[in-house]
Amino acid sequence: MIQSENCKHGSSAPFSTLQGLPESQTKTGRHKCTVCAFQKGFEDAQLGSPLLVELEQCHHKSSAPLVLLRDLPWSQAGAGRHKCATCAYGFGFEAGTKESTILVSLFSDRVDQIAHPSKHIDALLGKLILSQPPKFSKLEKSKHPSFKGSKIMDRSYRELKNIQLGRAGELLVMNYECEILVSGGRKDLAQKIIHVSELEGDGAGYDIKSFQLDGKTKYIEVKTTRGSANTPFFITWTELEFSKQNYDDYYLYRVFDFDSASNSGRLFVVQGKVNDSFNLSPTIFRGSRV
Ligand SMILES: [Zn+2]
Ligand SMILES: [Zn+2]
Repeated sequence: MIQSENCKHGSSAPFSTLQGLPESQTKTGRHKCTVCAFQKGFEDAQLGSPLLVELEQCHHKSSAPLVLLRDLPWSQAGAGRHKCATCAYGFGFEAGTKESTILVSLFSDRVDQIAHPSKHIDALLGKLILSQPPKFSKLEKSKHPSFKGSKIMDRSYRELKNIQLGRAGELLVMNYECEILVSGGRKDLAQKIIHVSELEGDGAGYDIKSFQLDGKTKYIEVKTTRGSANTPFFITWTELEFSKQNYDDYYLYRVFDFDSASNSGRLFVVQGKVNDSFNLSPTIFRGSRV
């Protein structure tokens, strides 16, 4: 679990990052709250950084929007005291860009967005049973991202880092898509399904390129867990951005209750921007730079 420090302005930042910041007693960020600077950087990375703003560079070669440094509250407390606020912003931005984002639950109002009517499909290598998404309500958006881990996050993090599990889920979905296209009379399209993550790695922002029966492209991201449908799972910044930019053709295939022994699981599908259907909460985990 990450130890975080909270400032009196309601921001939080990882203690180790604050401790590791270089000292600075110059420029606009002097004596400003580095905890707030870190959080602003993190939020800017998560929300999309403002373009065309004047940046100030510190002598450690980090940069931050000048207006932000100017507006930061003062602070002479905690591990970030007398440290470089510009660097704190930079570390926050980096963390927000690179670190995973956890998805907590599905909104109930997207249940009608399921891509296929409920039916059982036996895939070649195993079985995926399509089901309804679980019903959840939208959580109040937390004002500040939390840097605290929890046991359930930890468990699903490990699961997601389990490459074998992820790959097994992707293969099931590959076969599932193949079955649907073949049974719909589109063997030609079934032959064009591409396992993108296998060929190009994780950088593409989705795992599988498939098709609708009418030939329209489907970008599929597969998230597999052994746990139930409402087990939180992780998504990267790249994947989230990809879903925003390609929401018309984007599908999240949530494989849950996965059983390795029988190579089977259950599935629900949600179409559209991931952040429209799931509650996101940015989280930083150990093993990273911060
Ligand atoms: Zn603060
Ligand atoms: Zn600096």
